[in-house]
Order: sequence, then C-alpha cells, then structure tokens
Amino acid sequence: MKKLLLSLTLLTGFALALKAGDTGTSFEQLLSRITPAGAPAAAPAPATAKAVLPALQPDGYYWVTVQAADKYARTRLLEAGMDIVEIHKDKVSGFAHANTLKLLSVNKAMLVESVIPVMDYLSAVNKDFPAADAAYHNYAETTSLLKDMASKNSDIASVFSIGKTTEGRDIWCLRINSSAKGASVKSEKPGAFFLGNVHAREHLADEVPLLLAAWLMDHRKDADIKKYIDTLDIYIVPMGNPDGVEYDIKTGKYQSHRKNTRINPDKSVGVDLNRNFDSWWCQQGASHSTWADTYCGPSAFSEPESKALKAFMEARKNLKTHISYHSYASEILYPWGGSDEDVPDQKDKAAFIKLAGEMGKLTGYSPIKSSEMYIATGDSCDWAYAEGKILAFTFELEGNSFYPGASIITKTVNSNIKAAVYLLSMTADPYK
Ligand SMILES: [Zn+2]
Repeated sequence: MKKLLLSLTLLTGFALALKAGDTGTSFEQLLSRITPAGAPAAAPAPATAKAVLPALQPDGYYWVTVQAADKYARTRLLEAGMDIVEIHKDKVSGFAHANTLKLLSVNKAMLVESVIPVMDYLSAVNKDFPAADAAYHNYAETTSLLKDMASKNSDIASVFSIGKTTEGRDIWCLRINSSAKGASVKSEKPGAFFLGNVHAREHLADEVPLLLAAWLMDHRKDADIKKYIDTLDIYIVPMGNPDGVEYDIKTGKYQSHRKNTRINPDKSVGVDLNRNFDSWWCQQGASHSTWADTYCGPSAFSEPESKALKAFMEARKNLKTHISYHSYASEILYPWGGSDEDVPDQKDKAAFIKLAGEMGKLTGYSPIKSSEMYIATGDSCDWAYAEGKILAFTFELEGNSFYPGASIITKTVNSNIKAAVYLLSMTADPYK
C-alpha cells in the first residue's frame, strides 16, 4: 500500500477516495486504485539501415529486429533462442542473447536489422517504472488478495497451493465452487481453469485473472454468475511463475525476465515454463541452450512449476475449458501450437474456432490457430488439450510492450472479464 500511495502522490488531477489502511478487495475498489498514468510510451523506432552488429557483450542481452518472411522463419528464430515479441509483415522484433545473435550472423539467411542493448531499449520504452506501475500486484499482494476474497466469501471460495516453486513459494489457486472446497475434495461439476503470468514479465497476465476473481466475488449474486458458481468448478491461478515475477521486479527496475529462476549449470537463470510441457517437447520453436529465452529445460516437466500445473490438471478430470493469459499480441490462440496440423477431432476443432471467435468479438483480439503465428513445442495449452481434452486457449493480451503502464489495466480487464464469463457460459457444454 505504501508503494501505491507513493505512486498516487506523483499523479495529479485524479480524485481518489483512497485512505491508508483501505484494504478493500472488491472489484470496484481494486479498479479505483488503477490510475490512468498517461499514454504508454511508444517503442523506439527501429533503425532503418541494416545494422552492423555492435561489439556484443558475452552475456549481453539485446532487443533485435530480424527479417522473417513467414512462420517457418519465425520458428527458426525461436530455435536460435530468440523470444519473438512483435510480428510485422516481413520482420520480427524481440529479445535475444549475444549467442543468439552470433548464430544469426553465421546464418546469412537471417538478416538482423537492428540491435539495441536491452537496458537501453527498456529505458526508452518504460516511462512507467515500478513506482508508476504500483497498481500492478506483486506476489505478496496477489496472495493476500486471494486469501481475502476466500475469507470474505468462504461459503463459495477457498484458497490452496498447487505446489511450490523453485525458490519455495506457493503457487496459489482460488477455487470457486458452492459445494466443494480446498485442494482435495473432488467435484463432478464441469471445471474451468484460468491461469496467469507463467511468463514472468507479462505482468498484465496476473491482473486479468486476479481481477476476474474479484469481479466474480462482487457479482456472485447476479443470476447468471450465481448459476455458474452453483454449477461449475472454477479455478483461478493468477500467478503461475511467482519466482520469475519477483525476479523481474526485485531491483525496482524491470529485468525483462521471462523464465522461472532455476540456476542453470552455466549460471544463466531460468527455464521457459511454456516450452517445458511434454507436448512434442523441444522439437520446434524452442531451444536447448540454457541462455535462450526459449530454453526448454533439461527434460519435459523438469521444473517444479510445470510439474505442479501438470499434477493439478491431471487430478481434475472434470476440467473442460482453460485460458492461459500471456502478453502481448491481442490474439486468442488455440491448438495446435507445436504442429502445423489442425487438431484431428472435428468436433473439437469447430468448438475451438467458435469459442475463440466469440471471445475475439468481446476483446477485439484476433482468433487464430497458435501455429499460424509460429510453431512452438512444449506449450501448456497443447498439453492440456492432448492429455485432458481440455479446450485450452492462450490469450495474448494487448499492449505495446511487456510494460504498458497501469493505464491499460482497466480496459484490458473489463473486456477480458466478458470473454471469461462467456467461456463459463460454455463450460458445461462447449459444443452447444
Ligand atoms: Zn508469454
């Protein structure tokens, strides 16, 4: 709260009825603390001339723009360890380790247009550094909000840990079910699972499921929401990678960290949890190199976070629908992500297209088969669908960077609540 108040004093012109000690967790209270902090900064303009590679620091980390004509070229870039963040017509931009750039310079087919040291890039993009971004919820704040929601709605909500992270943090889950509580009581009701922030720096992907939980609690008496709470088994894990999130913000300046915080043998930090699932593990669009942003880990499910999610989903055969929130591309992705093919089951394929299309209308995001963007193996939604027949969607939320500022939260949350409620309305029978 101190952090929040500090940020509010920096902003003028907004009348906020917020007092020290106000710990309300209602959706409206949470939103009222999110202040428009000015338009998010534009990303720096890419260099127009073809870049000469600067003298690379051996462990340096860069924002790069590379020519890539199609999804196959993009897939090769993922395999070279690049994290593709922006896709343009014939090029992509994203983060790359010095070793990735060396690989690209060897491969003459991959033309690097610009290279900016990551700290220069971030300081150009991030006018909102953490003081201004205090409306975002860190691990402790997310945890306490979930616990508050459960204690204030104890007849329908409970909180439990689905497992521990690499550093020993609990991965918290809010369960909403009028007749079953906690981790071990099974439910026959159809289940919906909302997961956020598996990639650390995608902080907006914590806000959406967290505020969805607050909204559902506030609206629990509305006829349609009451019906879903009475007839469904709803799970919300807003922060799937708490270690990575805390690592990203611990210095007060964003670190642009994507992975978890496993210390690899070469002392590089992290495994990409969304390349660590056992779905065509580390075949395409992922890297075996520890320093890569797309490092798939030493083996499938090598990481405690992905193991916890696996066990969580395997133990709940009633799960029918799932959203994993990421940022930022304004897209709704459905399987496969790890293969060019469509899912073979025509009924499921039709349901994926229909549900993604409807949720696209509510959010303004583009519905698309995941592998149309690029092929990426080891993805959690492919695994959830292959293993549990869960209709699983990856939401790439909106924004112009991983750090779009606090002003984006309200609009993003409101439209995404509509999409999530629509998914709840379809969970009992996704094929209707
Ligand atoms: Zn992501």
